Amino acid sequence: MVQSTGRAVSVRVADYTARFESFLQDKVATIEEELAGQEVGTAGQPGLDEAGRMHPMVWEARREVQRQAGDAGLYAPHNSAHVGGGGFSRVEMHHVEEFVYREAGLGLGLAALAWTEGPNPAIEHCSPLAREQYLSPLITGEITAAFANTEPDVGTDVLGMSTWAKRDGGDWILNGKKAWITNAHFADVVQVVAVTEPGAGTRSLSMFLVDANMPGFRRGADLPTMMTDGLTGELEFTDVRVPAENVVGEIGDGFALAMSWINWRRLCRGGMCAGWGQWLLHRALDYAQDRRSGGWPIANLQAVQHLLADMDADIYQARATSLVAQAELDALGPFAIPLHREAPRLISLVKVINDEAFARVTDNAVQIHGARGLLLGSPEEKLFRVARNLRIPAGTAEVQRNAIARGLLREHAV
Ligand SMILES: Cc1cc2nc3c(=O)[nH]c(=O)nc-3n(C[C@H](O)[C@H](O)[C@H](O)COP(=O)(O)OP(=O)(O)OC[C@H]3O[C@@H](n4cnc5c(N)ncnc54)[C@H](O)[C@@H]3O)c2cc1C
Repeated sequence: MVQSTGRAVSVRVADYTARFESFLQDKVATIEEELAGQEVGTAGQPGLDEAGRMHPMVWEARREVQRQAGDAGLYAPHNSAHVGGGGFSRVEMHHVEEFVYREAGLGLGLAALAWTEGPNPAIEHCSPLAREQYLSPLITGEITAAFANTEPDVGTDVLGMSTWAKRDGGDWILNGKKAWITNAHFADVVQVVAVTEPGAGTRSLSMFLVDANMPGFRRGADLPTMMTDGLTGELEFTDVRVPAENVVGEIGDGFALAMSWINWRRLCRGGMCAGWGQWLLHRALDYAQDRRSGGWPIANLQAVQHLLADMDADIYQARATSLVAQAELDALGPFAIPLHREAPRLISLVKVINDEAFARVTDNAVQIHGARGLLLGSPEEKLFRVARNLRIPAGTAEVQRNAIARGLLREHAV
């Protein structure tokens, strides 16, 4: 049941999770305690500054965890070994992510594993110079990144974006505006996707590394979402001069690189939903055996037992989908450019099944806790909002179904 995550993991996953557990106790607990004393919120429920951004003290606590995790070699197991990462397969990463989300819950420990603001598969295609300047410090947690693809007028329809870059000698001049960017307020370097050859379809875009110190780079307003984490905002680029060494991959690779980043986020849903799902199930089991109604624990009521069983069934099927699909993807190359034609369907199956199962899990977790599940700031209430959010970023639920149907129809073309 909920202890099932220990099964069939590799020796290096077992080593990683043991070291991660000690790291939570030896390092993160102290930083978390210090943060609690500041009364500026927690990692899961951060206070915000006057501009609506994550409170700087909460941000700094997360950064300290990231740096220490980098020092301990825990921060970037998902990156390739040849760039300094752990070189873990996607199946191994499912186990790592599931463990981290189950053990850390909504705590500061989540920051110890690189997420949206960390090194990703797309940036591995950068130049040797950019590797030294950006990728290596990202892997050690010394700096953070953002991925800027979405615009105020364009989300799903990526090829309709208007941010553009024009060659000027050896450099590129970048102009445009991006919106809904995670870590817009704090990123040291931004992976910007822009049009370089209008009308060239999937070859029309390129990816550039924009340093936050470059003239013409400006952070815009916070876009407050139901996540209430003060991490999502706008970015503006006005005649930003980007040197050739900050082009990621080749000119024209932008769409494929953006999809690598997005697919990485989609695949991370498996471990995240399984880990958080199990954390919520543990909490629901505890609560149902403690809370009484009519003189007996509510766990004695079949109505409540069915909610618990539904949570288990959702977690089990979503987790199984993730492990099976990610094993297939390990064989195909989950982030290969070009991507194997069978990969998009598998990646979208992981995302849509996990996102939707997790939404039902959080809903049942709230229901079992009654009014306490609705209490602002409770883990059930927060994860209910997180689960609702998950069905939109990194490709909406509808877009995942498009990819699944495309894959099916290609395989079964008459
Ligand atoms: C908290 C948060 C963090 C985010 N972080 C980032 C980030 O770091 N970087 C980044 O670049 N972006 C980020 N985004 C943006 C996110 O990726 C987009 O919101 C998402 O891709 C959907 O785009 P949209 O909001 O413009 O919706 P739209 O694309 O306008 O879609 C609106 C509706 O129409 C449907 N729809 C649109 N086109 C199709 C289609 N072809 N087929 C079927 N249905 C369709 C959608 O499914 C949806 O229901 C973030 C968003 C949020 C909320």
